[in-house]
Amino acid sequence: PLAQRKLPPAGDAVLDASEVTKRFSGLVANNAVNLTVRAGEVHALIGPNGAGKSTFFNMISGVDDPTSGTVKLMGQAMAGKPSRAFAALGLGRTFQHVRLLGQRTVLENVALGAHLRGQRGWLSAMLRTDRKEEAALLAEARRQIERCGLLPYIDQPAASLPLGQQRIVEIARALTGQPTLLLLDEPAAGLRHLEKQSLAKLLAQLRSEGLAILIVEHDMEFVMNLADRVTVLEFGTVIASDVPAAVQADPRVMAAYLGGDLPGVHA
Ligand code: ADP
Ligand code: MG
Repeated sequence: PLAQRKLPPAGDAVLDASEVTKRFSGLVANNAVNLTVRAGEVHALIGPNGAGKSTFFNMISGVDDPTSGTVKLMGQAMAGKPSRAFAALGLGRTFQHVRLLGQRTVLENVALGAHLRGQRGWLSAMLRTDRKEEAALLAEARRQIERCGLLPYIDQPAASLPLGQQRIVEIARALTGQPTLLLLDEPAAGLRHLEKQSLAKLLAQLRSEGLAILIVEHDMEFVMNLADRVTVLEFGTVIASDVPAAVQADPRVMAAYLGGDLPGVHA
């Protein structure tokens, strides 16, 4: 079997962003953002459209470099390093829009993530030039599928599953990289109520298994019920970072969401 990564003890900082600033010509998309994500914690990053959430995700995953400030992953300064260096240190992510091969099975889609970990790379694995490695990668994919409760659908084409389960397939695929920190960009978007509940249950399970999870999510009910900590961005600046109840009661946060009511949160 593939080597399993040992997760840090709960409470350890796995991601530490300090004074992260990103300028696009005249515009400050991230303004001295400080944010720490800890093992065994779900941390939500929220804020109105254009607040700088996706920019921040890019800064902390090696997609783009901050103009100034530092990003530390597992204690290591990441300036100038490519995304694969972030992945190698235990950063896994899913994307805002589902990226699955619809006609391929759940197993094949998840195995594609595992192949990225193989010694010989996915091409060799796809061509089955190394049967031992192929078997180990498939076993890893199956393990993550089971962990996510998708075993009954393992041989079904991904496109035949409802959106909620497709999102979970993507999480299973990210898990084959044995992440310490999982970044999820709007995982609940477009899901039905019961699908959101299943997703929340899975994320709570992964948290209890010791993962650190950072989510960008617009569904406030989902965020407030699940997150241990919520950081709010407005115009690139952190205006609040606290436990959900304190953030919900913060007048600056209410003001940032025009009209004074947090969407999805009822008094
Ligand atoms: P959010 O994800 O919170 O909606 P973004 O991080 O996408 O916000 O965007 C923050 C701000 O930065 C917006 O004003 C957006 O137009 C701007 N921005 C984002 N990416 C770029 C880019 N590559 N070039 C110029 N401006 C950008
Ligand atoms: Mg965005």
